Amino acid sequence: MNPGPAAVAAVGERSHAVLRPLGAGDVEITGGLWAERQRINREVTLPLGAEQLERAGNYENLRLAAGTGTGSYAGLPLPFLDSDVYKWLEAVSWELGRGPSAKLEALAGEAIGLAAAAQADDGYLDSYYQVLKPGVRYVELPMGHELYCAGHLVQAAVARARTTGRTDLLDVATRVVDNVEAALGPKARPGICGHPVIEMALVELYRLTGDERHLAMAACFLDRRGHGLLGPGTYGPAYYQDDRPVREATSVTGHAVRALYLACGVADAFLETGERALLDASAAQWEDMVATRTYLTGGVGSRHRDESFGDPYELPPDRAYCETCAAIASIMWSWRLLLATGEARYADLIERTLYNGFLSGVSLDGRSFFYVNPLQLRASHQEPSNNRGSAQRAGWYRCACCPPNVMRLLSSLAHYVATAGERGVHLHQYVPGTVRAVLPSGAGVALEVATGYPWTGRVEVTVAASGGEAWPLALRVPGWCRGASLSVAGEERRDLAPGAYATVTRRGGRATAPCSSCRSPRG
Ligand SMILES: [Zn+2]
Repeated sequence: MNPGPAAVAAVGERSHAVLRPLGAGDVEITGGLWAERQRINREVTLPLGAEQLERAGNYENLRLAAGTGTGSYAGLPLPFLDSDVYKWLEAVSWELGRGPSAKLEALAGEAIGLAAAAQADDGYLDSYYQVLKPGVRYVELPMGHELYCAGHLVQAAVARARTTGRTDLLDVATRVVDNVEAALGPKARPGICGHPVIEMALVELYRLTGDERHLAMAACFLDRRGHGLLGPGTYGPAYYQDDRPVREATSVTGHAVRALYLACGVADAFLETGERALLDASAAQWEDMVATRTYLTGGVGSRHRDESFGDPYELPPDRAYCETCAAIASIMWSWRLLLATGEARYADLIERTLYNGFLSGVSLDGRSFFYVNPLQLRASHQEPSNNRGSAQRAGWYRCACCPPNVMRLLSSLAHYVATAGERGVHLHQYVPGTVRAVLPSGAGVALEVATGYPWTGRVEVTVAASGGEAWPLALRVPGWCRGASLSVAGEERRDLAPGAYATVTRRGGRATAPCSSCRSPRG
């Protein structure tokens, strides 16, 4: 289905994307700030993640489900600890796509073995229910997180299949998906998960397998949302976006990570089906978020009580929740809308959030993490019981959604740099590195990018291989950048429009862009 190993999100051959993501190995970040973050992630954070998952009991939970564990179930009363294992596995999978590592492959193999052993004969897999509530399946949907865990498993399996070609985890994941389909699929009992993620995961699985059932199930879960299936819960149906049908949801409400993972699923469904109502709603929602509910840092979700978006302009700097996962989900959503529309504003928000709302979530040594990222910290507002509001980053969390989410974004970061397709090659994010792409004409092209970004605004792009033909090279002029100029073979263009792409079409050569006197994208 996919032309090659592709990205977070890739798109199918019949996709309605106007920009095409590149394959997993087509962009390499070779230096600068992000290469160093990726090095630390690979060498320190990912091995540390495996240790923490063992220490926190996530692995023992799977052993207990397999009947080989000896301890007690860890993490009570949290039903979603399996998802941390899968998010970490996804991160390791992208990392193995960046380069082989016997150590990481061994660690991944261990975790995959645990998941495979825990899987029931009929394909069901969720250690919380298998160990603590055997026989209870898919009935505690508002807060049970069964499909959420399944969704993260699918994402990890797709990443592993794309980068390594190995289908061991994919075999586990597709059996889980079959089990979910039998219980809650389009022809089964109507139900949805209180925490979205399976929607985008199923679209991604469809892109890998080409199996229409997976796309149909994603569409079914989206269509069922907004009709009160989950009940009022503690915080009302808006908490899990069950208050309005997705095509009528033009503002962001409720739990921020839930809202944004669902938004990714909506955008993904548009990319594969072309149903305009999905894109229109998603774009309106994005505008509402950026205009009224986004911090300067790109962080989102202001309320602690239910980890939710607040009212419009309810953006207290000191009580900002700004969960690291929400920043990551925002980046994932903007990426999908960028593919769908080609509009630079989505790449702008990715940049703003990467440097300011996401990067704060992990320490420079890669060993500790913020869950909450306020713009101002008041000592009296700390919540030391869960470290969520602590002034210090923590090595791990009881609810450890953020650390492995940081890991998977860093290991997959190269996906967000460039696209290639009918409109030529687009550079969306500026990092020192190389880009290789095959254009629809079959021409193989290569770029080399040199820049001190974000510390300086000068970006030098060399066309190392042109494929023997002329094609457009589109360079994003950041929305914050005034007075940008572009120099191509001695010819200079001045005062480029910010928040748009400056396009060059010629044979070979070198372009320098986009800023003559730049501020950096740092806040
Ligand atoms: Zn989180």
